Amino acid sequence: MAHRAILHVDMDAFYASVEQRDDPRLVGQPLIVGGTSGRGVVAAASYEVRRYGVRSAMPMRRALELCPHAVCVKPRMARYKEVSRQVFDVFHEFTPLVQGLSLDEAFLDVTASQRLKGDAVSIAREIKRRIHERTGCTASVGVAPNKLVAKIASDLDKPDGLTIVTPERIHAVLDPLPVKRLPGLGRKKGEQVAAAGIATLGELRRAPDSRLWPLFGRDGARMRERAAGIDERPVEADWEEKSISAEETFREDIADPAAMKAELARLADKASGRLRGKQLVAACVTVKIRRHDFTTSTRQRRMAPATHDSRTIARLAQGLLEAWLAEHPGARLRLLGVGVSEFAPAEQLDLFDAAQPVEATRLDAALDAIRGKFGGTALQRASSLRKDGATAERLSEFGDDRPPRRS
Ligand SMILES: [Mg+2]
Repeated sequence: MAHRAILHVDMDAFYASVEQRDDPRLVGQPLIVGGTSGRGVVAAASYEVRRYGVRSAMPMRRALELCPHAVCVKPRMARYKEVSRQVFDVFHEFTPLVQGLSLDEAFLDVTASQRLKGDAVSIAREIKRRIHERTGCTASVGVAPNKLVAKIASDLDKPDGLTIVTPERIHAVLDPLPVKRLPGLGRKKGEQVAAAGIATLGELRRAPDSRLWPLFGRDGARMRERAAGIDERPVEADWEEKSISAEETFREDIADPAAMKAELARLADKASGRLRGKQLVAACVTVKIRRHDFTTSTRQRRMAPATHDSRTIARLAQGLLEAWLAEHPGARLRLLGVGVSEFAPAEQLDLFDAAQPVEATRLDAALDAIRGKFGGTALQRASSLRKDGATAERLSEFGDDRPPRRS
């Protein structure tokens, strides 16, 4: 079978580029887009201000210490969404298989498009050209046989980059990269891996089980595959997905209802973060409960109005669990999961607009931004932390909820 042709397209400093395009006075300036109130975070940073160490998701106060003469503008989400639509329209001119990751980032499967629209590299060039022509902004594109390598590739030559990784060159390109470049690894885990003496993806790919086990447990084999650029996940076109869920198998069965509820809060947080990332709301929440003997139950309820609010989803999920526990007193749980389904598009919310008194939504947005930057476990709500600190050890951001059971 022929190799797949996957593109990862990522706009360069998206919000900042839109601002610079709309106001020529901002061109060449160290520009920060973000709420300027004391608790604001950097939503986007122009390349000029990144030289000072300013990064998105950084507290605004810290950013202004690094670059006191930076020009700050308030985000205009409605405007970014408008430009985002133009960008996604370009994607859909080449393939219906577009999986948006955020307003400015998507995977495209162009395998079947090549017959009519030229090879993947020509398609990538033409996408970049049309985006620039219509929006005035630049994009960086990675072209590869799978999503993982395409995502790594798009980041290798920013801004305005086009990086092609053919199947034969995957090892040559990935091997020298620092392990922190591996998507989904998370900053903390990346530091642990580096501290364990595995500095590059090539070293990770060749590491023996004995070195991977303490770091990844059962995920070791999969991490080795990822470091080798192996990834079979399909591009899931937007709207194809019918539900979003997050689940966790525990290292040790849990019998304490408070710990169970903390887990549910954390899982609800994760599921709702993905909902918000897709700009969707959900009308149904499901809790999955697996006992120590593997018997599994699900409980479901509707949510009206549909929501993507973490705390609402967590509260309803906890209610479902409480009802189940009342029927199963003393249950010991091996796994918990939270799922949301029955999607509808979220209304347009100015997430970073300080004028909006939607405190919970703003907090969610800030958490999402920081997680996007540092990986899933970088920040958690206090309500989702367990007293035993177990969350710190989780490998759940790799999507495999089967951590090792130490005997
Ligand atoms: Mg981007």
